[in-house]
Amino acid sequence: MSPSDVVVVGGSTAGATVLRELRSRGYEGRLTLVDPEPGTNRPPLSKAVLADSAAESTVLMDHSSLEVELVRSRATSLDHAGRTVSTDDGSTHRFDALVVATGSRARRIAAPGQTGELVLRTVDDARRVRERFADASTAVVVGAGFLGLEVATAAATAGLRVTVVDVDPPLQRLLGDHLATAICERATTLGIDFRRSGAALVGDPVYAVRLDDGEELAADVVVSCVGDEPVTDWLHGSGVEIDHGIVIDDHARTSLADVYAAGDVAAVRTPEGVVRRPFWANAVAHGRVAAATVLGQPVDTPIVDDYFWSEIAGVSLKVVGCLPVEGEPEVLEDAGSGHGLLAWGRSTVVACGIRRSAPRLRAVLRERASSGAPTVD
Ligand SMILES: Cc1cc2nc3c(=O)[nH]c(=O)nc-3n(C[C@H](O)[C@H](O)[C@H](O)COP(=O)(O)OP(=O)(O)OC[C@H]3O[C@@H](n4cnc5c(N)ncnc54)[C@H](O)[C@@H]3O)c2cc1C
Repeated sequence: MSPSDVVVVGGSTAGATVLRELRSRGYEGRLTLVDPEPGTNRPPLSKAVLADSAAESTVLMDHSSLEVELVRSRATSLDHAGRTVSTDDGSTHRFDALVVATGSRARRIAAPGQTGELVLRTVDDARRVRERFADASTAVVVGAGFLGLEVATAAATAGLRVTVVDVDPPLQRLLGDHLATAICERATTLGIDFRRSGAALVGDPVYAVRLDDGEELAADVVVSCVGDEPVTDWLHGSGVEIDHGIVIDDHARTSLADVYAAGDVAAVRTPEGVVRRPFWANAVAHGRVAAATVLGQPVDTPIVDDYFWSEIAGVSLKVVGCLPVEGEPEVLEDAGSGHGLLAWGRSTVVACGIRRSAPRLRAVLRERASSGAPTVD
């Protein structure tokens, strides 16, 4: 039976997709959105918004055309038996179907009570980092994943001397050796320095990073980009299964009847185990699947979307397929300076420094599969 009372908790990329899809699939019942913040499209926060304050306004979402009842409050608990969500304004909200899209928060490495650690997850975080860059000449970024390198790029572009510290080789766990090496060489030409070590924050407020060998890297700005943690604490005691995130199946169903989850807060059960992929396209895919399932309609898209993009050291990277990639790619188009269209077997295609939409990249992978490209290089 189709629900008449849907509550969505969290109204950014995943939650907003659920709201839009429910309405476009014909849902005319009551739709309540619980979120204390305006919905935010986060990818520009580490790119345009770090460079230009004017970009801040472009990341905020407007749900007003969707006939949504907006509760500007934080969800504090779920009573599954009673089918209600409580919020910190003291009210409760009844549902027939609940979609949890509370995303994640930046992981922090400061000691308890230590102040001054900068992270990058929200518009306020991005504003703070940008304003600190304006008065600074040196920065240390802890974490050499895609977010750390985007922040390092923004700092170097703003004229700061930047050091990126990580225990692992930069970008390798995400991208694999070939792409990581190419992008880090480019980052080095911007003056970004890489140090391989664990890092502890020094000072209160923080003014330096201590490496494993005891060396202290003092900096005007220290930013931690060390991953994210799903926002599940408010579900404590609800009985929902949590393992790296709220566990969902390929229909976005959680372990509780009538409760669904989508986006960075969710981890998908696969034959290989539970996998959380905190990327934008995945949040959209989860949101679409959740909306179809809530309405009892056929699910026509996969729960996992393997599209990912980033912009590091002036190089745009668009990837469709499995990451990290092993070995050397086949160069399908050479645009010079290491840029072009690269493929690894029939499983991954990458537009490096050239413009290609995700659908075009998917088409390339399909063509390769039908023309018998090798499965493994
Ligand atoms: C700086 C940055 C840059 C990124 N760049 C890229 C990129 O280039 N490419 C890419 O593929 N991905 C990128 N990502 C990842 C991508 O942005 C995320 O995967 C996406 O934002 C996930 O959306 P979400 O809706 O699941 O979660 P979120 O965006 O975290 O939204 C969660 C929402 O839930 C709300 N909420 C939280 N707790 C509660 C509560 N208790 N009650 C009510 N509401 C609550 C929050 O206010 C928020 O609105 C980036 C992420 C960041 C932070």
